[in-house]
Amino acid sequence: MASTVETLDFQAETRQLLRLVIHSIYSNKDIFLRELISNASDALDKLRLESLTGSLDAADTSDLHIRLDIDKDARTLTIRDNGIGMSRDELVELIGTIAKSGTADLLEKIKDSKDAATAENLIGQFGVGFYSAFMVADRVTVRTRRAGTDSGTQWESDGEGSYTIQAVDDLPVGTSVTLHLKPVDSEDGLADYLSASKIRQIVKQHSDFIRWPIRMATEPTEPTEPTEVDGSASSGVDTLNSMKALWARPRAEVSQDEYNEFYQQISHDWLEPAETIHMRAEGTFEYEALLFIPSQAPFDLFSRETKRGVQLYVKRVFIMDDCEALMPNYLRFVKGVVDAHDLSLNVSRELLQHDRQIRGVRRRLVKKVLGAIKDMQAKDAERYTKVWAQFGRALKEGLLEDTDNTETLLELVSAASTHDPEKTTTLREYVERMKDGQDTIYYLTGETRAMVENSPHMEAFAAKGYEVLILTDPIDEVWVDQVPAFDGHRLQSIAKGQVDLDESAGDEKETDADKAQREQDFAALLPWLTTTLSDHVKQVRLSSRLTTSAACIVGDAHDVTPTLEKMYRAMGQQMPAVKRILELNPTHPLITSLRTAHHAGTDEPALTEIAELIYGSALLAEGGDLPDPARFTRLLTDHLTRTL
Ligand code: ADP
Ligand code: MG
Repeated sequence: MASTVETLDFQAETRQLLRLVIHSIYSNKDIFLRELISNASDALDKLRLESLTGSLDAADTSDLHIRLDIDKDARTLTIRDNGIGMSRDELVELIGTIAKSGTADLLEKIKDSKDAATAENLIGQFGVGFYSAFMVADRVTVRTRRAGTDSGTQWESDGEGSYTIQAVDDLPVGTSVTLHLKPVDSEDGLADYLSASKIRQIVKQHSDFIRWPIRMATEPTEPTEPTEVDGSASSGVDTLNSMKALWARPRAEVSQDEYNEFYQQISHDWLEPAETIHMRAEGTFEYEALLFIPSQAPFDLFSRETKRGVQLYVKRVFIMDDCEALMPNYLRFVKGVVDAHDLSLNVSRELLQHDRQIRGVRRRLVKKVLGAIKDMQAKDAERYTKVWAQFGRALKEGLLEDTDNTETLLELVSAASTHDPEKTTTLREYVERMKDGQDTIYYLTGETRAMVENSPHMEAFAAKGYEVLILTDPIDEVWVDQVPAFDGHRLQSIAKGQVDLDESAGDEKETDADKAQREQDFAALLPWLTTTLSDHVKQVRLSSRLTTSAACIVGDAHDVTPTLEKMYRAMGQQMPAVKRILELNPTHPLITSLRTAHHAGTDEPALTEIAELIYGSALLAEGGDLPDPARFTRLLTDHLTRTL
């Protein structure tokens, strides 16, 4: 059975990840076993599913299980399953490379992170899976045979730069992973993984809910490589896990610790969940659901390929991961299990999408999840704030996707505001603070908090004591336009449309006569400016929103905002340039002088330059990009020179 041994290099990213893993980024080394058992369990699921759906008829599924073997003399621990196995190509593909999107970004972040805790945090979100074997082993041997094929493959590596691969005959179907253990080193968190009681304890703690039996000899076995896959639970072999379907047990009988362990097993997270939702539906369509809101967002929450976190079971049989029919995209961070009793085991993703019952389940689950966050908001503000900080951006996507739940989602929204620089506010709290006579919720969008706060648009609102929401998430630009109102109050951008604060609340009312006089004073200047600046703006008009700045730029009520325009362009969309409106502060000395000069017929090119400078400054003040910065600087320098 001698065969050629090939040596292959790990993909560069894999090498980097391995280095991180080996150099002990995880403080809890025990979880390697959870990861390998989870892979074995997935492999058993796959074999069962393939045989159920008829794509593998000869497969033996009579005694699917996982087996752990300790060999004290050889210092090895072997995790063996009689599941689907891997072909040679799959082995190279699955173990030698990291296909996950965002890996490169993540590795960069880990390299940049200053301390081990942050790094652990990041890697925890990623889930190192199979590679965690190298935390505890200095050599790992995988022997595997794909169900439905005749020959097996051996893979071996020390986790440094490369691995070897060779064909092996006489392997049973399934996979064995043999860990050549590093010496015990309590300082490094390396326990004695040759100790049966230690292994028992780890399985109990981290893998108790695995739905396949995990067996181990009651006495450490003699070296028996290669072993027959154990055919039955022969004497001297124990099953270590209880295999209880936690979701099927009554809530009252399950402790939060058990929920947390279960969550950690299915999510590969090492933190506790922020919320646990356990429910059972009876009647025409029965199901149990056990859902979790994590306490931390995964690093790839906003990558295109992020999967949904809910698994579908049918009568205790695992059917699929990432069941998109059960959770809308904006709730992709929710993890858990739904066990539906009245579905066929053969159900496909396509069928699920169109199933009326499943749609009903999904509606209910969404309500439950949003309701749980709402409850948190009422009862445990601190936890709610944390959850919102992690998942608020995703939840806001719901305002675009899920019109059935707009009301609830709006109740959940939390945003920065001019009311309190330290704290965010809900819309409900905003409404409660509104001034007498105010019926609109004011907001301003922008790239950063500082940019929004210092925007000239804010001036009159600050001067008159109106609270303004500060919205700086890119998605804020979009949802504020889609949502008509909150609790009967329109949401209005203070950078859009006409703002007449004097109309909305009573102080310092300007008389109509004053207004008419002012309009008349500027009757000549405004049309001239509109023509002069017509390349840049569609209109020049007087403003009531400015107190100290000379000018600002505003959009029409339905115009696309500059940030949104930029976003669309960045996404490669064709966008006609949106021309906005220049508003002037009629009491500002620069503006009144400009008016006087224009009346007096002062040299027109000089006035044109001033007009351009006013427009450019207004653009800069809101954080915009000048169309021609070189020209702006030259004009400014010339005019400054003349004033000295
Ligand atoms: P993940 O489980 O998140 O996909 P892992 O690093 O744990 O990532 O495993 C990578 C892949 O290797 C798995 O998706 C699976 O296809 C394959 N694999 C790992 N262990 C086994 C096994 N025991 N049997 C069959 N395939 C396996
Ligand atoms: Mg895995």
